[in-house]
Amino acid sequence: MIYLDNNATTRIDPQVLEAMMPFLTDNFANAASTHAFGTGANEAVKTARRQVATSIGAEPHEIVFTSGATEAINLAIKSVAEQYQAKGRHIITLQTEHSAVLDVCKHLETKGFEITFLPVKPDGLVDMEVFRAALRADTILVSVMLVNNELGVIQPIKELAKLTHDFGAIFMTDGTQAVGKMPLNVDELGIDLMPMSAHKFYGPKGVGALFVRQRRPNRVKLEALLHGGGHEGGKRSGTLNVAGIVGMGKAAEVARNQLGTDALRVGALRDSLENELLQISDTRLNGNRQNRLYNATNVLFEGCDSDALIMGLENIAVSNGSACTSASIAPSHVLMALGMTETEAFSCIRFSLGRFNHADEIPQAVEAVKKVVGQLRAMSVQNI
Ligand SMILES: *Cc1c(COP(=O)(O)O)cnc(C)c1O
Repeated sequence: MIYLDNNATTRIDPQVLEAMMPFLTDNFANAASTHAFGTGANEAVKTARRQVATSIGAEPHEIVFTSGATEAINLAIKSVAEQYQAKGRHIITLQTEHSAVLDVCKHLETKGFEITFLPVKPDGLVDMEVFRAALRADTILVSVMLVNNELGVIQPIKELAKLTHDFGAIFMTDGTQAVGKMPLNVDELGIDLMPMSAHKFYGPKGVGALFVRQRRPNRVKLEALLHGGGHEGGKRSGTLNVAGIVGMGKAAEVARNQLGTDALRVGALRDSLENELLQISDTRLNGNRQNRLYNATNVLFEGCDSDALIMGLENIAVSNGSACTSASIAPSHVLMALGMTETEAFSCIRFSLGRFNHADEIPQAVEAVKKVVGQLRAMSVQNI
């Protein structure tokens, strides 16, 4: 099995699992309990909160732990809509956002909010002139993702945040594909809200966090989605997932220590894979080649149906859309936003690498892709 679907989810790093184990066994206490067992768990959560905050240049009290990025996205966008509607009811986002962001925005549309779903350029990047023109006095929130999950392109967050703040709006970026994979500082970039998820950077599934700016220049007011015991400063009730949170903290720390080595090693593997794949005739790279993360490549194989390609690749895990929407038969909304036809969008494969890929997997994957692409093209010629 060759796993090239790390943008869908990653394997837990052994160091992360080791840090979590005590909290799944002997140290099982509720972090809210005041006895010695509880305070131990509470200390571990505090450490994790510091680890996550440090990895993005935030303060510990600006981190709210959630069940993942989807919940953090819901919490962030719905809070801003609720808290800031006196200023206006206009929100700007991109057509290429993750379905969690798009679906929350569509839900708010039914509640009387006006959403601008901005198009992107054919390379997946936002057009700054188009963006500037979309900002209005009644804009309360801009949500533009940092790294796109299908293309890996990196949006110009710092410039977008600055323009957003000029209009007195809040700037959110979905950091799920960026956190733990690239250096990232919320102050330097001007980020007010940032959802993230542990399982995208070698932590466990079912735990994530929302960065909520509590310092100058923009203290963001949050409105709880989940009411109950008043956990997480009243922002997110429910007994804390101590083991998961400890795992997320450790994953953030490990990622911080390995940022450079991961980027160099995984980047070299991605480049070699991409170069080989683009040697195959009638292939094309999707998304901007310069402004992108090091771990993924999205390639169009003319004349090949991506579902058939995935099936044919048998023991190689790749993807043709985000895992969250690929259960549907619609073409990827991200690829369609690049201006592709449906047939083109159904001919693309995302290969996303990670810390646990080995160099010897690359030639194996390339050979397998060459073989299946050849077979599929031969079959379609016969059908004509
Ligand atoms: C995976 C992903 C999400 C959803 O994260 P979950 O923790 O699985 O809910 C949101 N946004 C992006 C960009 C993602 O890649």
